Amino acid sequence: MSKKKFTRPQVVVSKCLGFAACRWNQAMVEDPFVEKLKQFVDYQPVCPEVEIGLGVPRDPVRLVGKADEVKMIQPATGRDCTPEMQKFMAGFFGSLKEVDGFLLKSRSPSCGPMDVPIYAGEKPGSSSKKGAGIFAAKARETAPLAAVEHEGRVKNFELREHFLTKLFTTSWFRQVRQAGSMGALVDFHSKNKLLFMGYNQSRMRIMGKLVANPQGDSLENILNQYEENLGQALAKAPKTGSIINVLMHAEGYFKKQLTAREKAHFLDSLDLYRQGRALLSSLQMLLFDWILRYDQEYLAEQSFFAPYPQELFYLKDSGKGRTVG
Ligand code: SF4
Repeated sequence: MSKKKFTRPQVVVSKCLGFAACRWNQAMVEDPFVEKLKQFVDYQPVCPEVEIGLGVPRDPVRLVGKADEVKMIQPATGRDCTPEMQKFMAGFFGSLKEVDGFLLKSRSPSCGPMDVPIYAGEKPGSSSKKGAGIFAAKARETAPLAAVEHEGRVKNFELREHFLTKLFTTSWFRQVRQAGSMGALVDFHSKNKLLFMGYNQSRMRIMGKLVANPQGDSLENILNQYEENLGQALAKAPKTGSIINVLMHAEGYFKKQLTAREKAHFLDSLDLYRQGRALLSSLQMLLFDWILRYDQEYLAEQSFFAPYPQELFYLKDSGKGRTVG
């Protein structure tokens, strides 16, 4: 596939993921994905618990309360850390100018984006439900377009694909905003069309209408509405059926040039992909060969074939494998 120039996403990362031994027990987590990504993004490491003066090592904190009012408590000391944490977060997120993603530590009451126990009471043994850590919840609220994941989930191939796609697309859109021109938005939409078709076809159509701008709306209004729809479009990883539609759509560009045997081979490969027995990348490569052979410029520029730097593409997985959606 073609070598494309990517923007450098701005990523807030939990400091304990390879930047400092700041966990409650003075540990640091060496994470190969965080390390690999360093080359392609600008990291902003942060440890919210150290920032509020809890120190290292420290007694662990936990979340207590109901969904609408969660407190951060340190059971060993009885300290309610919520006011300091709120103050820190107001300053941190208030001064955060540019952010495309958050790569956070799993299960932490501060950083965990999901599945963090929230206890009904402060006493040991009180029941719990699962939710987001206090810092992670604020991150999602402040930057709804940003890609948010924890280091455990990005070990899964599909979740990693989605995280990276969203991260680099969000970063590209931030550049479009900075460019402040309708031309930059038209270019962005045009080059991401197949990607959006795979993610969410109805949002893609809405975004297309916004870009056409028949009412002559202001650029600011168009960008705001476009951003909202982009967030919705990229909210969930695409389904296999939608990806197959995109692949067939792309193959349609070559229907006059391909032989019957080439078409049959493509359909067989699609079927294997549908069954979870072939990788999307093998079909993308097959199509890209035809793109180059027949000089199909429009498809050659589609982010669908390379939504993030190729060096970050690797198949290693936590073992859960891909899901057929
Ligand atoms: S999970 Fe967050 S709060 Fe906990 S040590 Fe890591 S960076 Fe600090």
